[in-house]
Order: sequence, then structure tokens, then C-alpha cells
Amino acid sequence: MLGDPVAHSLSPRIHTAAIEACGLDATYVARRCSAAELASAMRELADAGGGGNVTLPHKRAAAEVLDLRTAAVERTGACNTFWAQDGALCGDNTDVVGFAAALEAFVGAEPPRRVLLLGAGGAAAAVLVALLESGVRDVVVANRTRGRAETLVREVGGAEARGAGDAGDAGRVRVVEPAALVDEAPFDLAVNATSLGLHDGDPLPLAVGDARFAAAFDLVYAPGETRWVREARAAGLAAVDGREMLVRQAAAAFERWWGREGPVEVMRAAL
Ligand code: NAP
Repeated sequence: MLGDPVAHSLSPRIHTAAIEACGLDATYVARRCSAAELASAMRELADAGGGGNVTLPHKRAAAEVLDLRTAAVERTGACNTFWAQDGALCGDNTDVVGFAAALEAFVGAEPPRRVLLLGAGGAAAAVLVALLESGVRDVVVANRTRGRAETLVREVGGAEARGAGDAGDAGRVRVVEPAALVDEAPFDLAVNATSLGLHDGDPLPLAVGDARFAAAFDLVYAPGETRWVREARAAGLAAVDGREMLVRQAAAAFERWWGREGPVEVMRAAL
């Protein structure tokens, strides 16, 4: 794994457990890497027959380095998984499938109809792509920096509408000021894709009374669950944190590297 910082990452624990359980001859390590080192580090690992993950703050830069990009990389502009194939540096963004799989585990096969997406960074892009691909058409994006939310909707929401051949769909992915969410109709699901909740003392990404929503999906995870998840549950809502998504994106990355299904149960237990 290449990123900065990487010390907090749980990915080495997950992948080491999976490698051992499958009897593979491999090592997964987290390596702190600057922006200047990223391209050569990815190429060196891939040329040696390996691969890896990329994490904050390099996911967008990693997408630029690739020779071949999956549709998930094209649509999000970000890469979190890379490997070599026939001499080409290939990359995927398994956060998209990771969120989709974790969402289905949470709410079942029927996707939510109306979703509130908090945040507009790299993780929010993966969530928005996954929501649109799973058939959700009514998404409200709220972010501290409005311009970033508008860019996300234009780049991801607009592309979906064009793909569907229905310009009217573009209006169904909208940006709303956080303070105006209280006036919005109820949401089936609210997703926290901000980094709020990573640190003790962070404010909540959204107070339970500041919008009406039936369920909460927090991408952030913390020992003992995040405060947002705990408060949502205390208010009688269904809520999950980001651990299942972490496992599912790791399983998808494992499959890219090894050509076999990632051992989800082993990975989950390792967390
Ligand atoms: P990012 O690109 O840096 O985006 C951070 C987002 O958080 C932005 O929307 C930012 O708003 C918002 N934010 C940060 N501080 C804030 C504050 N004080 N008040 C309000 N909004 C604030 O990060 P990212 O890559 O999208 O990651 C976001 C989170 O998702 C991280 O916690 C990461 O660990 C988590 N994540 C989890 C998984 C998983 O598998 N569970 C996968 C990927 C990411 P501005 O635009 O206004 O700065």
C-alpha cells in the first residue's frame, strides 16, 4: 500500500490474513510514499510482478499513471488498486464495488430511492458512481465546500445522465447547502463520505435532527463504531460504519491481484 500517512491503515492486517489463509507466497506492507515517488513506486512494484493499493492523498494521481483503467477509474478519476498485465500498468477503483456490496449487505437487493450524500471528495465520487450504477436516481449532495460538490455532480452525475440518454436525469443529482437539508423531503439513506468521525472530538457529519433520513451509512470506521452510527442507532435508525466496505473493497482488490475470490470471512475476522 502506498500513501501518506499509512500507519493507521488496517489494509496490511486484512491482506496478510487473506494471504496466509490462501497459502500464497506474498507480503503486503504499507509504505509511506510522497507524490513525487508515486509513479516510480507503482511501476517498480508492477514490473516485479506485484501490485498494490493506493490510499490518501494519491488516489487521483495514481489514476494518471496507469496505462489501462477500469470503468470505475474512468468515472471516479481515482485508482486504489494496481497490478501489471502483459507489461501494462492496470488500475481499478474497488471503492465503487466495495460500497455497492456493503450497501446491498446493509439494505438488501432493492436500492434506496432517495439518498443524501455528505461529502464531495474521492470517497464521495466512488459512492455516487455506485449509487447511480445500482439504479438510484435521486441523490442530494451536501458538502462544506459547495464548489467541490458542484464539480462532483457535473463530472459524475452528468456523465450518468448522458450515458442514460436522458438529460432529465441530471436534475436528479442535486447540490444542496448543508444548512438547507432540514427543508428537504425525507431520505431513505444518508451516507457520510466526509472524513468527519476519524478523530475524537470531530463534529457529527449531520445531526440526526438536521435532516430526515431512515438509515445511516458511515464510510468512516473507528473502534467501538463512530459517534454518528451510535447516535443514529440511539434515535432508532438503522446504521452501519465503514468496516464492511473496507472488507469488500479489499476482497475486490485481492481478486484483481490473484484471479481468485477474496476470502471475505477471513478478512472480516482480521478486522
Ligand atoms: P477527501 O477527498 O479528503 O474528502 C474529504 C471530505 O470531507 C470532503 O468532502 C471535505 O469537505 C469533508 N470534510 C473534511 N473536513 C470537514 C469538516 N471539518 N467539516 C465538513 N466537511 C469536512 O477524503 P476521501 O478520500 O473522500 O475520504 C473520506 C472518508 O472516507 C475518509 O474518512 C476515509 O477514511 C473514508 N473512506 C472509507 C473507505 C472504506 O472502505 N470504508 C473507503 C474510502 C474512504 P471539503 O470539500 O469542504 O474539504
